[in-house]
Amino acid sequence: MVTRPNEAVPHEFNPWLHVTSLIEQAGRLLKLDEGLVKRIVTPERILEVAIPVRMDSGKVEMFHGWRIQHDTSRGPGKGGIRFHPSVNVDEIAALSADMSIKCAVVNIPYGGAKGGIKVDPSSLSRHELERLTRRYAFSIAPMIGPDRDIPAPDINTDTQVMSWIMDTVSMLRGHNTPGVVTGKPLAIGGTLGHAGATSLGVTICTSALLQRLNRPTIEQRVVIQGYGKVGAPLVRLLSERGMKVVGIADIRGAIHVPGGIDHEVMSQHYSEHGTVVGYPGSIDVPSDQIFTLPSDIAIPAALGGFIDAKVAQSMSATIVVEAANGPTTGDGAAVLASRNIPVVPDVLANAGGVVASYFEWAQDMQGYMWEPELFQQRLEKTMHEAFNHIWTRHQQLEATLRDTAIAVGVERIAEATELRGLFP
Ligand code: GLU
Repeated sequence: MVTRPNEAVPHEFNPWLHVTSLIEQAGRLLKLDEGLVKRIVTPERILEVAIPVRMDSGKVEMFHGWRIQHDTSRGPGKGGIRFHPSVNVDEIAALSADMSIKCAVVNIPYGGAKGGIKVDPSSLSRHELERLTRRYAFSIAPMIGPDRDIPAPDINTDTQVMSWIMDTVSMLRGHNTPGVVTGKPLAIGGTLGHAGATSLGVTICTSALLQRLNRPTIEQRVVIQGYGKVGAPLVRLLSERGMKVVGIADIRGAIHVPGGIDHEVMSQHYSEHGTVVGYPGSIDVPSDQIFTLPSDIAIPAALGGFIDAKVAQSMSATIVVEAANGPTTGDGAAVLASRNIPVVPDVLANAGGVVASYFEWAQDMQGYMWEPELFQQRLEKTMHEAFNHIWTRHQQLEATLRDTAIAVGVERIAEATELRGLFP
């Protein structure tokens, strides 16, 4: 069951309770009917699946997974699937609600969903990973589909995992079903531009915020937590716009390079060593100190819940752009607000990925692939429009960018819910 407030463990960050309180706060700001807010908060469907997997040793291991559709009033559920040892129902529920809001903020015709398996994928062989993925896909197959719920990659899942899910569902249905997942390889209905789209959206939001604050982009010092699917392309994109990435953390450690990191040298170093640590001329720093490094912009691009009150208090940057999902706790957000540090929230900053997914799905549904320029043009336009809308509304509402983005998302979900009415 998704935790309700009275079951909460005091002082422990629970992402589900956090997102619930943000939606309820948006409901109050928008003066929405209480019953309507209850409908918006509560996930529509929660599926928990047991996943038996025959390991290479011949032994059978049990894993647990979830797929949650939070809200489908604006369209089919949409959201990634993560494989991580920390996955639990509260985390997936919170992330599914984030997806409902995110899709509404960028105004694409989707609801929100999320899935995950509690597993450390690095402990599995490729064959074990394939069997795990296929059995999970089989178990959630009744719930997903191009017009029901469309998974995508998230933490520790990639184009290969999407291919296995797409193939499993296609085998079950008896026909090719490319629109059931996004983030696929090009050869089976993926699209150019999907990889790196989240990072491009983060870059667009960073530049747009600097512009609104009348600050130059050139020489702005950036620290990034995470050098994965989102963090790595970010180093290149930000550097191309003249910003200077001076610190990066990954799971093995963190580094400080006051003169700035060269993205090509870093990419080469990472492919040889599997970590940012040891980058030529870098100074090692403790990973949990990454945001204390002298900098102008902080970009969390790893797991959620890291920026708590203490991290927010010691943050050196004067701007935060959330590339990760849910990187800031409620207390952390309050401290950042009290320090007047603007935060571009996850539901806006990292929405480039799901916008790219929408374009991939639209192409699959049309059976007509677009020119790469069209994809790029539309992605940039969607992100700029979303940022500008949230910026204007935050000035009108005199609220933070996060509270405004959530209010705009909730407002759009509320409109769809009311228009559709209550069945039966
Ligand atoms: N996992 C990404 C996110 O959290 C993408 C989701 C999608 O494309 O459906 O936004």
